[in-house]
Amino acid sequence: KVRVRFAPSPTGGLHLGGVRTALFNYLFARHHEGEFILRIEDTDQTRFVPGAEEYITECLAWCGIEPDESPSKPGSFGPYRQSERKPSYRQYAEQLIKDGYAYYAFDTAEELEEQRRIYPNFRYGHENRANLRNSLSLSEEEVQKLLEDGVPYTVRIKMPEDEVLSFEDMIRGRVSFETKLVDDKVLLKADGMPTYHLAVVVDDKAMEISHIFRGEEWLPSAPVHVLLWEYLGWKEKMPYWAHLPLILKPDGNGKLSKRDGDRLGFPVYAMNWVDPKSGGLTKGFRELGFMPEAFLNILALLGWNDGTEQEIFTKEELVQKFTVERISKSGAKFDFEKAKWFNHEWIKQTDNIALIVQMRNILVEHGIEEVDPVFLDGVLSAVKERMTYISDFWTQTSFFFQRPISYDVEAIKPKWNAQKTSFFEELIIELIELPVWEASALESFFKEKVALSGMKVGELMMPFRIMLVGGKFGPDVFKIAELLEEKEVIGRIEAALP
Ligand code: GLU
Repeated sequence: KVRVRFAPSPTGGLHLGGVRTALFNYLFARHHEGEFILRIEDTDQTRFVPGAEEYITECLAWCGIEPDESPSKPGSFGPYRQSERKPSYRQYAEQLIKDGYAYYAFDTAEELEEQRRIYPNFRYGHENRANLRNSLSLSEEEVQKLLEDGVPYTVRIKMPEDEVLSFEDMIRGRVSFETKLVDDKVLLKADGMPTYHLAVVVDDKAMEISHIFRGEEWLPSAPVHVLLWEYLGWKEKMPYWAHLPLILKPDGNGKLSKRDGDRLGFPVYAMNWVDPKSGGLTKGFRELGFMPEAFLNILALLGWNDGTEQEIFTKEELVQKFTVERISKSGAKFDFEKAKWFNHEWIKQTDNIALIVQMRNILVEHGIEEVDPVFLDGVLSAVKERMTYISDFWTQTSFFFQRPISYDVEAIKPKWNAQKTSFFEELIIELIELPVWEASALESFFKEKVALSGMKVGELMMPFRIMLVGGKFGPDVFKIAELLEEKEVIGRIEAALP
C-alpha cells in the first residue's frame, strides 16, 4: 500500500520548492491509489511560528492537493503533529542507548562552546567522544549519578567509526556515505524533545510510510536515518527514498531561496505570508493572480516531464502520467517569464464559468456590485486572451463598467477637424437605424461609412476607441461596441464629442 507524506516544519510560509515536494508526493500517491498524508514537524520549538500550520493547510487546499490524513483530518495513524508524539520518542532513544547505538551526553553548552573555541572545526564524533562528558567516556556509576541528580543531557547516535553506508534512491540510484564523515547527531534534546532525525524515522514507521519524496537538501541526513531504521530493528520496513532535484534561480546560479523573491522581482511563496513578529510581507503567487491549476502545472515541470513536448497538464493528467522514472537528477531552473506564460494559457483555456466568481469579486472590490451575467460573460471572453494574471481583469475591463473619466486627448486633438466631428454626429444617427448590433456588422458598417467620407480607417477608428475606452487600449473596438450596446455607445460618443 502506497502511503506518502508531506512533512513541513511550521516555520513560515511555503516556498514553491515546498509545494513542489507536496505535489510530487500527492501525484505519486494518487497514481498508485495510495494515501497522501500531511504531518507537521514541530519539534523544534525555537523555530515554531504561529499561523504557519494554518497557512500550510490553506495552501494545500488552494492548490487542490488536499491530504487524506492531516492534523485537521486525522486518520488512524495519529497524532499528525510531531510534538504530540513526544512520550514515545524518549522510549526509542532509551532503547537505542540500551542496545549500544546511542549514548547520553552531559556536556553543557559552555563546554561545547569551549571545544569550538579550541578546535574551530569541532564536531561531536568518534574522533573525540572519548574525551567529552558522555556515557561512553564516563563510568556506569558516574552516569547513574548524573542521571539521578537530574543533570540535563542529550542523547546522541553513535555513528560507526569507519563504514560505508548505502541505500537505493529512487531518483539517484545507489548513494553511499562514509560514516567517518558524519558526526554523532543529537537524537533527543535536553528539553526532552526529539530532533528531526529521530522523530522523522519514528513517525515514518508509525505512519507506515512506504515512499519518501523530499528535497535534495535532506540527502546528507539520509545516512543517519538509514542507520536509525536499522538500529531500531525496522530495516525491512524502511521506506523507499527519493530526493528531489533542487529548484534553481532563473540563471541557474544556485538554489532559489526564500529570500530571492524580493531580489528577483517575483514571488517565491505560494500565497502571501505575513511574518507575525516583524509584520513583514512575503508575496505569493495566489495574490499576484495565478490560477492554482497553472501554479501546479508549473511546479510539476520543475524536475519532471512526461517525455513529450506537452507542457499544459491538468491535475488529472499529471496523476495519470506521473512516474518516478521521469524525475530528473539535475536541478531545475525556475523561469518566471515561463510561469507567466503558463498562467496566461490556463486563463485562456479555462471555461468562463470557472472564472466568473473571481471576476465578480474583483468588480465588487471596485464598487461594482450589480452586473448582468451575460454581459460579464461577454466581457470576460473579450479580454481573456489578454490576461496574464487573474488580477489583470480590472485594468483590462474597467471601461466596460464605467464611462471613461478622462480621454487620451493628445492622441486625437492635433489632427481633429470639423469633418471628423460631423462623421461622428452622423454616425450616432445611423447607428440607431442599424438592424443588427453585432461586432462584424458594426465593423462593415463603420468601414463603409469611412470609405464614403474619403478619410482613412485608422484616422477614425482610433478616435472611436478613445471615445469608448478613454485610451489606446483594450480588445477589438467593435467587440467593445457590441458589448456596450447601442445606447451606451451613442452616449459615449456624445459625451466625448467636442
Ligand atoms: N521537516 C522537514 C522539512 O521541513 C521534512 C524533511 C523530510 O521530508 O524528511 O522539510
